[in-house]
Amino acid sequence: MSSSYPETLEALMAALRRLPGVGRRAAERLGLALLEWEEEELHELGELISELPQRVTRCPQCAGLAENNGLCAVCSNSNRDRTTLCVVETMSQMLAIESGGHFKGRYLVLGGRISPLDGEDGSGLNFDLLEKVLRQGEVREVILALSSDVEGRATAAFLAEQLKQFQVRISRPASGLPAGANISYADGATIAAAFDGRITLTENH
Ligand SMILES: [Zn+2]
Repeated sequence: MSSSYPETLEALMAALRRLPGVGRRAAERLGLALLEWEEEELHELGELISELPQRVTRCPQCAGLAENNGLCAVCSNSNRDRTTLCVVETMSQMLAIESGGHFKGRYLVLGGRISPLDGEDGSGLNFDLLEKVLRQGEVREVILALSSDVEGRATAAFLAEQLKQFQVRISRPASGLPAGANISYADGATIAAAFDGRITLTENH
């Protein structure tokens, strides 16, 4: 039998390897680095991790991440424009748009995009929540700020069709976002320009 680290350390390294971008060597380095931490620091880290499911919850209005079953920072802000709704795939896209400081409306986080190759046919996405928000009747424009790749475009086309039943303008940001890249990689000025020059897909007034 080949020699190995103590069982507990091996188990920690195996857990770390489940994280994105962490291979065998990185997991080994991280595990050994944690061994050097003070016991109190390790307890704090352990507590943060173990409390994640209870404390980090989905915002009931936009499906973004929130704290303790409350609203997220955007939805709890009464100064936000309730007539414009920006649909994104992930919360990191929402934060990228927020970092531009330009968009004043609200968001809806789909939780991904339609991607048959990855087994996502749309049933796991927050379409129901999106329709629920639109049925409240305040939204006048839906901006589909999805990724500019094939799956993102397919999802936008599907949504534009689905949302025809609502009396809303449907638009998407102008080109200018990095081709084939995720909107979350675009910088604030690029995002602002893309939102200013947004293109209307459907006008349903
Ligand atoms: Zn929210």
